[in-house]
Amino acid sequence: MEKIYFDYAATTPTDPQVLEAMKPFFGKAFGNPSSIHSFGREARGAMEDARQKVASFLGAKLEEIIFTSSGTEADNFALFGVLWANAAKGNHVVTTAIEHHAILEPARFLEKLGYKVTSVRPDREGLVHPEDIAAAMTDQTVLVSVMHANNEIGTIQPIKEIASLVKEKGAYMHTDAVQTVGHIPVNVAEMGVDLLSLSAHKFYGPKGVGCLYVRKGTRIAPFLRGGGQERHRRASTENIPGIAGLGKALELCGERMAEEIVVQTRLRDKLIAGIQKRIDRVYLNGHASRRLPNNVNFSIEYIEGESMLLNLDMLGIAASTGSACTSGDLEPSHVLLSIGRPHELCHGSIRLTLGRYTREEEVDRFLDVFPKVVAKLRAMSPLYPVRENRLP
Ligand SMILES: *Cc1c(COP(=O)(O)O)cnc(C)c1O
Repeated sequence: MEKIYFDYAATTPTDPQVLEAMKPFFGKAFGNPSSIHSFGREARGAMEDARQKVASFLGAKLEEIIFTSSGTEADNFALFGVLWANAAKGNHVVTTAIEHHAILEPARFLEKLGYKVTSVRPDREGLVHPEDIAAAMTDQTVLVSVMHANNEIGTIQPIKEIASLVKEKGAYMHTDAVQTVGHIPVNVAEMGVDLLSLSAHKFYGPKGVGCLYVRKGTRIAPFLRGGGQERHRRASTENIPGIAGLGKALELCGERMAEEIVVQTRLRDKLIAGIQKRIDRVYLNGHASRRLPNNVNFSIEYIEGESMLLNLDMLGIAASTGSACTSGDLEPSHVLLSIGRPHELCHGSIRLTLGRYTREEEVDRFLDVFPKVVAKLRAMSPLYPVRENRLP
């Protein structure tokens, strides 16, 4: 039987058209965009073409787009670059408890270096309240970083409202939009953000390439230092095949997004309703409506996320969980803990994320087999209450 991929939030397959757009730059068009000969000019042309696509997709100017090696680098660049360049103003950054590790870890490191970091908690549905962000700010606050949508539970944050409060108080606003770019509308002018991170492999582009949008006039120091690439803001020879792929992937998303939102939202809701109907003691994680069109996340009482995953994998279904024991990380998800889920429920979480190639038959097959997997695991669980008629 064909395998089923329900892990689009972890990474997406590269669209065949994207791969085609990248191929020339592994071949004859191999030039270094800094070279002034024809090889270099051809590479530079492709890069500027991609930059144009990104800028128009985001509603940004060409010079506001800086290509990076990943979403992680864009996030690190935003935090370190803005704090380093604005030391005269202050040393405080405000972020949230549910950020991706690409923000959490650099923020933790900044704290070690002597910076002040305030982490704001979301409500039980994963929503960050703008007034909580405003309350956390001081006259030392240089930067506020709040993700656009959460990668685990899919909650979409009110970035526009948060940004407007942040700007009023005179700080810079960054958003990690790695889960939203290419999936729901993202426009930097409408959102009012100064910095925004994105990553190609989350929207059917290649791995290892991303970008940071930096609003004109934002004071930011380079994170990678070396050559003068990207107008002296990001050193290193540009990843031309990757950048061409990123541009093509975003162009395709622009053409297909409206339809994909409709299709995925319907399949998402079918999964949510189907799971709630077929299995007892399940709890939806994340917001019911302010939610990514492709995200389903449940806590299933009395079982381990890990066992669900392994059992589904044996049936050819790829999903994800908030507790990744095999990756050496026994701690339950910081996101589920932050929204107030007790430890047991954090360990019993499962995330299904849909995408461009998800078909309705796959959703139906999942709804058919998943209740059986849960029943089997619960039958083995010492915690699952034994029914009266089974007592001796
Ligand atoms: C995947 C992801 C990242 C990291 O992006 P990479 O390109 O894999 O480094 C950062 N933030 C969020 C929200 C993500 O989902």
